Amino acid sequence: MQDPSFEVIVVGGGVAGLGVAWELAQRGRRVRVLEGRHVGAGATWAAAGMLAPSAEIGFEELDLYALGRESLARWPVFARRLEAASGRSVGYRDDGTLVVADDRDSLRALRRLFDFQTDHGVPVEWLSGEEAVDLEPMLSPRLPAAIVAPGDHQVDNRAVLRALHRAALASGVDVREETPVSRIVPGADRPEVVLADGTTLDARAVVLAAGAWSASLGGLDPAPPVRGVKGQALALRLDPDRGLDLRHVVRGPDAYLVPKADGRLVVGATSEDGVPDTRVTGGGVFRLLEGAVAVVPGVEEMEFVETWAAHRPASRDHAPLLGQSAHPGVFYATGHYRHGVLLAPVTAEEVAAAVDRTLAGAPETAPVLAPFAPLRFPS
Ligand SMILES: Cc1cc2nc3c(=O)[nH]c(=O)nc-3n(C[C@H](O)[C@H](O)[C@H](O)COP(=O)(O)OP(=O)(O)OC[C@H]3O[C@@H](n4cnc5c(N)ncnc54)[C@H](O)[C@@H]3O)c2cc1C
Repeated sequence: MQDPSFEVIVVGGGVAGLGVAWELAQRGRRVRVLEGRHVGAGATWAAAGMLAPSAEIGFEELDLYALGRESLARWPVFARRLEAASGRSVGYRDDGTLVVADDRDSLRALRRLFDFQTDHGVPVEWLSGEEAVDLEPMLSPRLPAAIVAPGDHQVDNRAVLRALHRAALASGVDVREETPVSRIVPGADRPEVVLADGTTLDARAVVLAAGAWSASLGGLDPAPPVRGVKGQALALRLDPDRGLDLRHVVRGPDAYLVPKADGRLVVGATSEDGVPDTRVTGGGVFRLLEGAVAVVPGVEEMEFVETWAAHRPASRDHAPLLGQSAHPGVFYATGHYRHGVLLAPVTAEEVAAAVDRTLAGAPETAPVLAPFAPLRFPS
């Protein structure tokens, strides 16, 4: 695999790595992706595919909200390009998102969220419980109120992954699965990547996109401050013929429900910090179903399809690390935490642009990436 014709090595074949690789190939760069297991082995396959910066806005996270809005605005064109390049649908849906309360405490929290959203110009609307049921008849008639975020959309994340894989291959990216990397050795001239089998590869730039595993690779000191936060999720079967159908993404206080074009209803997700395994537990499934039934009682009638768990790559401040790292020749596209699917277009386009400009001898960081520079973390 020692092949000087590759200019960039990307470590990790999730949405971040494949996205950056595909964009770099569009710019004429020769790219190799090294994926330790198989495409879809990480968080991207396990996600719910929500593109929901408005519903998920965090009180201390206005930069992240701006990045999410920017990425959401790019999604329709990104999806069309990806579908054209891969010949596959990515299941983009623009039905909007409902955030609902189900008791007095969650109603207070919903009101606080709405006040914060409107103070910051987030495009949302307050609905009474009745108005919410008019919009989404499967909602519980007992819900006191809801916020509708019409601009928060969704994609089928598994379809996105398959499309990115195919588009990357079609544009000449060399995607190597079952090729774990054990170490990245920085170097401004030609950084090196050492594989688990001892093989050493070099390139003009390396992009670290290994998701929740990003801190476990050797050679980078300091390592990126990224840890895994376990999330369990499950899927049920919608059945429109029996009146079991949802159009909107519904976010309740204890679970969210995401209807997919293939007829699944994804229910997520637990958030378990410091839990290294990916076991699906009775307690996890119980709490998700309980949270789902509280807001959409018809869930009780739906066929059970599957469960899964994976780790979200969370940085110390829960915002992504994007662009040139402290290590010469090494770029980061990691730490996307709960938003890696939402942030796919901006990550792919802007990290690829940063690498491309550096290789062209004119390094420059796009203003949109500035708050997310890996260098914001002291060692
Ligand atoms: C339950 C759940 C629900 C979610 N819902 C949403 C959502 O609705 N919307 C949203 O925007 N985000 C969501 N997320 C978050 C989103 O999934 C992640 O932010 C995103 O997928 C991260 O993508 P990634 O490419 O960085 O990582 P991953 O998809 O994890 O990919 C990393 C890849 O790197 C590979 N790798 C690891 N170590 C090595 C190594 N040493 N050598 C080579 N390869 C290696 C892995 O095998 C893996 O394939 C959710 C996450 C979870 C767990």
